[in-house]
Amino acid sequence: MRIDQHRLQRDLEELGQIGYVEGRGVTRLALTEEDLQGRQWLIEKMQEAGMQVRVDAAANVIGRLPAPGEGAQVLAIGSHLDTVPQGGRFDGALGVLAGLECARVLNENGVSLPWDLEVINFTDEEGHHYAGTFGSRAMVGERLTEEMRRQKVEGVPTLTEDLNRVGLDPGRIGEARRDPGEIRAYLELHVEQGNRMESGGIDLAPVTGIVGIYRYVVTVFGMANHAGTTPMASRSDALVAAAPVFYLLPEWARARTESMVATIGQVTVEPGAVNIIPSQCRFSVELRSLQSGNMARIRDRLIEWLDEHVEADVQTVYEKDGVELDADLIEIISNAGCAEGLNTVPLASGAGHDAQTFAPVVPTGMIFVPSRGGLSHCPEEYSEPEWVANGAQVLLRTVLELAAKDA
Ligand SMILES: [Zn+2]
Repeated sequence: MRIDQHRLQRDLEELGQIGYVEGRGVTRLALTEEDLQGRQWLIEKMQEAGMQVRVDAAANVIGRLPAPGEGAQVLAIGSHLDTVPQGGRFDGALGVLAGLECARVLNENGVSLPWDLEVINFTDEEGHHYAGTFGSRAMVGERLTEEMRRQKVEGVPTLTEDLNRVGLDPGRIGEARRDPGEIRAYLELHVEQGNRMESGGIDLAPVTGIVGIYRYVVTVFGMANHAGTTPMASRSDALVAAAPVFYLLPEWARARTESMVATIGQVTVEPGAVNIIPSQCRFSVELRSLQSGNMARIRDRLIEWLDEHVEADVQTVYEKDGVELDADLIEIISNAGCAEGLNTVPLASGAGHDAQTFAPVVPTGMIFVPSRGGLSHCPEEYSEPEWVANGAQVLLRTVLELAAKDA
């Protein structure tokens, strides 16, 4: 059984026109006019494919091919149609459209699966409104009422406001929750968004795990004073006090394990004038690792150092743990890639995905295909038609393999 590569390409191109501006890529921010157009387009495609379509309380679009029996579990294939500002045509869209293509092929071939098959477009994976992966987190029953009322930046509506605007009742968000036991497995196909695959000649990657992210804002305090008349010996310079952290943090991370990363990407000083000694130095700290213990260790070490050496305040932005994906699914995806004659190598994901939400509660599998030049979240984002087709075909094989196991 083969997916229709040309039909999938046509879908990617058609959807890629929605929110597209020449030279500026695709902008479909969650629940904006462009995103709503994309959703409408998807609903029509799902209906044409013979699926039953519903929109849940978190605005997730769910297309379903029912199994013949009653009370069956669900096999969910998902990703997201929303994009970052001036993003590409593949991030998220590929996963939803490949799921749709699988559903079409299965339906056309009259295959009856041992579970209902659902293809899901999750709301606001990219975090236009707030923290991202909103739709999938609502589905696993995370408590979101507080977060839905928070405004990320001036001018962007809250999720509560936007859900209201599209005719949903934010007070009923709890109804989006599904019992994890109802979901047999969650599968997601995605572009790699890095260049390990293309540069390494890897065609296909079962994803082994998704890194966790811990983020903080650190403020180190000093005392503002005249830069000309205050002698060096009597200064309390916040920037100088903070400076050792800028080289110590990367050293701690490197010493901990080769696979973890630590980044200080933003630094500001107050009051921020050439002739005033800084009274405050504020900087971001981001830690990423598959193992949460690594991030916790570096966080504790940072706090310890600050306590001993400077006057400082540390605010936690969030601590999202890393997840390992399901071992059986990694093996099934690996075998499917090899059976298609693809150079298949397992990889960990350095970016977050909806799959991360499901992995702790549902058997979760993820498939990567290469991104040209490793570029993503930009208009240049591109994956060759052949790579796209490989990913979708392996997704279909994975569904069939799982069906054979469960039958
Ligand atoms: Zn994505």
